[in-house]
Parts: sequence; C-alpha cells; structure tokens
Amino acid sequence: MKAIVLFGSPGSGKGTQAKLLTDCLGIPHVSTGEMLREGVRNGRGVTPKTAAKMHAGILVKDEVVDAMVKERLSRPDAAKGFVLDGYPRTLVQAEHLTAWMKERSIREVVIYLAVDYNIIIARLTGRRECPRCGTPYNVLLRPPKVDELCDLDGEKLTRREDDREDVIRARLDAYEQQTRPVLEFLRTNGGRVIEVAASDDPPEIVFQKIGQAMEN
Ligand SMILES: [Zn+2]
Repeated sequence: MKAIVLFGSPGSGKGTQAKLLTDCLGIPHVSTGEMLREGVRNGRGVTPKTAAKMHAGILVKDEVVDAMVKERLSRPDAAKGFVLDGYPRTLVQAEHLTAWMKERSIREVVIYLAVDYNIIIARLTGRRECPRCGTPYNVLLRPPKVDELCDLDGEKLTRREDDREDVIRARLDAYEQQTRPVLEFLRTNGGRVIEVAASDDPPEIVFQKIGQAMEN
C-alpha cells in the first residue's frame, strides 16, 4: 500500500509531481482541486455556492471535501495506493484523514515540496494552458515560442480562473493560515514527512529527489 500525501503551497508543483508519481507507481492521482473543478464543469456534486467560493480563492467546506475524498479512496483502483494532491488542506481534514488511515492501518508518506515565496508568485502568475490540447506553459518560466500561443496547435493560451492575481493572493493567504499548520499536525500525528527542496530544479530533478528520499 502506497499512500502518498503531496504537500506544498499553491504553485509548488504538486500537480506535476503527482502525475509523475502516479505514472511511475501505477496508482491513482486524487486531486481535490481537479475533482472540484470537474464538478463545476459538469454541474454535478458542486453547488453554485461552492463554485463561487472556489472562484474567489476561498477554501471549500471541510465536509464537502472530506466526503468527496473518502468516496474516491474507497474505489477499487485506490486499494493499492494513491497520491493525494491538495488534501488535507485544513486541520479538520487532516484529523479526518489520519483517522481514516488508522482505521485501515495505513501509514502515509507525506512529501513536502518546499518552494520560495517569490518563485511561487512567478509560477502562478505566469501559468497558462492550451484550451485545445491541455499543454501547460508558463509565460515567465517556460514560455511558448510565439507569445501566448500554443506551440503545438497555435491556439490562444488561457489562464485558470483561480490564477488571477487577487485570487492567487487569497489562495496563498489561505495556505499560510489554514494549511501550513496541517504539516505540523501530520509530523506529530501522521506518517513520515519528507521535505524536498523544489525551488530551483526542473520537475524531473525534483522527482528524482523524491524517489531518493523515499528509498531512504
Ligand atoms: Zn495546444
């Protein structure tokens, strides 16, 4: 059983590392952000009130997220393990998760991606994606060949709704106030916490560092 919790502020590269880990280990990527965004798109499981909160960068209610994650982790494909991305995000969620793990005698590994604040701002404000093929870009760190256009199909790049600057600030505030204490909680009540310096290296190198740390 490989229960991995990816931890880090918005813009720390959690999503990218989660994809690399799930491909490598053959276990599902459980991203609460993606589940919620999908719920908004198809209008299922997410109320208009919850959608409005997400657009403003406010954290969604614990009960909503806890129930969603519990349901997802109970599916057969998660029996061998999973990579949690964006959860737990509050102390209430962390308590919920550690209780769920203890009931099943699962000991999670927490991977904390430590990234410098200024780099986070650059990553988030520069983040774009192609609406047609989904290729991610960063106009500051990994720009397309032609300004704001996809290299593969020439489509105009878009910004995620929650990557606007005011929303980014709200998301980072929420992280500092509500999510950072979760790391301390997991250190004392949960499984092993591995800290990986992720400010300067490209994703492949960060991924190698994670692999090495997990083997030790
Ligand atoms: Zn494209």
